[in-house]
Amino acid sequence: MRDTLVLNASFEPLSTVTLNRAIVLVLQDKAVVEQAHPELRMRGADVDIPAPRVIRLCRYVRVPFRRRAPWSRRGVLIRDRHRCAYCGRRATTVDHVVPRAQGGADSWLNTVASCAEDNHRKADRTPEQAAMPLLRQPFEPTPAGAMLLSLGAEDFDALPSWLAQDAA
Ligand SMILES: [Zn+2]
Repeated sequence: MRDTLVLNASFEPLSTVTLNRAIVLVLQDKAVVEQAHPELRMRGADVDIPAPRVIRLCRYVRVPFRRRAPWSRRGVLIRDRHRCAYCGRRATTVDHVVPRAQGGADSWLNTVASCAEDNHRKADRTPEQAAMPLLRQPFEPTPAGAMLLSLGAEDFDALPSWLAQDAA
């Protein structure tokens, strides 16, 4: 199931919802479609509308405080676009830059996407100890950026440029 990005009335990214949920919000006049999938339409008994990729709430929702993006292995793989931080090939595992055995944390700045081979080769060593320099430095995405990234690379590339910049 594709996800739809939900923007606040102020255009700030809030969350993602399933396509079905997004359509319900639009049909209930709680949200308007900001961007639709170019070729996907939702057809039902009384409905024939373009499938929304981005919707915006009609009423402003107050967000009490700005959380940090929660760390997850899936999030790291998506952030790094499934590219190994050591060789650039397709990554399926998450490597701790400073290994957990040496006190390294589960955090955005201490984890990178890695191919299984490099992850195994590096083992419980730092990049310096293993002589395996990082091709790029890990970064902590903003909560909105992490949300956009969670939509997936394919959808991400098709988002309006002013949104995509926020997640860069
Ligand atoms: Zn690799």
